[in-house]
Amino acid sequence: MALIVQKFGGSSVADKDRLFNVADIVTRTYEAGNKVIVVVSAQGDTTDDLIAKAKEINEDASKREMDMLLTAGEQMSAALLAMAIEKLGYPVISLLGWQAGFITSSAYGSARIKRIEPDRIRKELDKKNIVVVTGFQGINRYDDMTTLGRGGSDTSAVALAAAMHADLCQIYTDVEGVFTADPRKVKNARKLSEISYDEMLELASLGAQVLNNRSVEMAKKYGIELEVLSSLTRKPGTIVKEAVKMEEMLISGVAKDEDVARVSIIGVPDRPGLAFKIFSKLAAKNINVDIILQSVGRNGTKDISFTVSRANLKTTVDLLSDYLEQIGANSIVYDENVAKVSIVGAGMESHPGTAAKMFEALYDANINIQMIATSEIKISVLIDRKDADRAVSMIHERFFDEMEQH
Ligand code: ASP
Ligand code: MG
Repeated sequence: MALIVQKFGGSSVADKDRLFNVADIVTRTYEAGNKVIVVVSAQGDTTDDLIAKAKEINEDASKREMDMLLTAGEQMSAALLAMAIEKLGYPVISLLGWQAGFITSSAYGSARIKRIEPDRIRKELDKKNIVVVTGFQGINRYDDMTTLGRGGSDTSAVALAAAMHADLCQIYTDVEGVFTADPRKVKNARKLSEISYDEMLELASLGAQVLNNRSVEMAKKYGIELEVLSSLTRKPGTIVKEAVKMEEMLISGVAKDEDVARVSIIGVPDRPGLAFKIFSKLAAKNINVDIILQSVGRNGTKDISFTVSRANLKTTVDLLSDYLEQIGANSIVYDENVAKVSIVGAGMESHPGTAAKMFEALYDANINIQMIATSEIKISVLIDRKDADRAVSMIHERFFDEMEQH
C-alpha cells in the first residue's frame, strides 16, 4: 500500500463532468489499495473571477480580505469533489487548509508554508477516508486564512507530500507533461519522460508554465518525485526528479520568455564601483536583473546593458534617469520589443559545441543576437520579439529533428 498525493489544477475540476472524471481517477487509485490525499485548485477561472468581483467593490481592498475571498474558490472545489466521490460510493472528507494543518507566514496574498501539522489528515486516512484538501491556502498566527500566491496549489501538494512522506506526488493538469518546446507552437515538440529538478526550474522560470517554480524548489529540497500528467488523457506524464537518464539528449527543451525588456546605460565612466552602484539601486527596489552585458571600455566610458521584466521597466528607467547625472553617465535607452529564447539541458555541460549549434541555427534563420547569457545547464539569447517563435522552431529543429540521425 502506498500513500499518494494527487493534485488537480483548475481546468481539471472546472465543471461537473471534469469533477466526476477526477473522482474516477481518485477512486481508482484508492480502489487499488492506496491511501489517497487529493489537493485541489479553484474551478476554472474562479480565482480570476473572484479578483474581478473584489475590484468592482474596492480597488484597494486589503490583502487580508482578498485572502478571505480567494480561499473560498478552493473551498468550493474541495466540497464539490468530495460530493462527487461520495456519489460514487466512496468514503471521503474535504478539509480546508487550516483543518489540514497548513501553518503559514502572515504575509496575506503571498504567504509561505512554515510547517504542516497533519494530525487530522492522518486520522481521516486511518478511518479509510479519501482526504480532499484545499490547495493555495493556510492559516497564520493570527488565525486568519492566507493564500500562497497565484498558482500556489502545486506548492501545497508538494509540501503535503513531503510532510506525509508520500510515495508519489502526481500533479494533474491539462497538458500531458513537460515538452521539449511549446507543443501548440512547435509541431515536433515531444513529451519528456523524465526531467531533473534543475532543468525544470530553468524551464519554469523561462515561461514553460507547467509547474509553479516554488513547488519544484520544494520538491528538490525534500527529494519528492513529481509526475506531471493530464487528467484528461490519462497517459503517463513526465517525472521530475533529481537525476535523469539522458536519453542521449543534449538538451531538454527550448523555451521562450516574452516578459523581458532591455535597458542600456550609455557612456558610464570606466571606473570601479559604478556597476555596483547601479545594480544596488535596482536591488533596493526589489527589481530583478537578468542578462547583463558590459561593453569593453573605450575613451574612458563603457555601456552597461541588462534585462528586467516588462512590469519593472518603467520603475527601472525612472530610477536610473534620475541617477545618470550623479554617476556621470550619458543616457539611457530601452527596448521592449525583445524576447529571451533559451535552451536548457543537463547534457550540455559535457558536450562542447552546444552554444555553437544554437547560434548556427539562429544565423541560418538570419536572426540577430543582442545579448547572450549562460549557466551550466542553460544558454539564453536576447533577440527581437518578432523573431522569437521562429527562433524557437529553428533551434528545436536543429537539436531534436536531427538527433535521430546519429
Ligand atoms: N486558484 C489559485 C490560482 O488560480 C491557486 C492555483 O490554482 O494553484 O492562482
Ligand atoms: Mg487556478
